[in-house]
Amino acid sequence: MPDCRALFLDRDGTINVDKHYVYRPEDFEWVPGIVELCRAAQSAGYRIIIITNQSGIERGYYSEQDYNAFMQFLSEQFAARGIHITGALHCPLLHDDVNRKPAPGLFLQAAAKWGIDMAASLSLGDKERDVRAGISAGVGRNYLLSSTATDSAATAVVATPQDLIAFL
Ligand SMILES: [Mg+2]
Repeated sequence: MPDCRALFLDRDGTINVDKHYVYRPEDFEWVPGIVELCRAAQSAGYRIIIITNQSGIERGYYSEQDYNAFMQFLSEQFAARGIHITGALHCPLLHDDVNRKPAPGLFLQAAAKWGIDMAASLSLGDKERDVRAGISAGVGRNYLLSSTATDSAATAVVATPQDLIAFL
């Protein structure tokens, strides 16, 4: 389906609480408000796509298989709450100028793979590199999830994911 709008989400610190290199289901904890945001975005016609740096793989903290198993678990958690995740792309590398955020490669791959209208899409992440990657990829509006940031290239800084619902 061409020209779909997407809500691009970072994973750690945006979907799940960032406990440093999460890959075990028992370490999973929702960031408050993310389910509500995803429900609202889905209702508004956005596809939900996860774009995530996973240098823990190259660092040897966990394997691709561990990552895939966790993402399957995460997808099931969303599905149990009525939310369909279109897909997830990750960069396993520690040093990478193409796909690892702030590089835009994964966003561009997602745009091609799922026919995304980038200018009409949104991104949300908890690091400035998430914002930079979205901007470089041509995502129309890029939001930073932070309760403390004051200096950001983001379209706006939001304190909770739910704050983004007003901008859908
Ligand atoms: Mg993050």
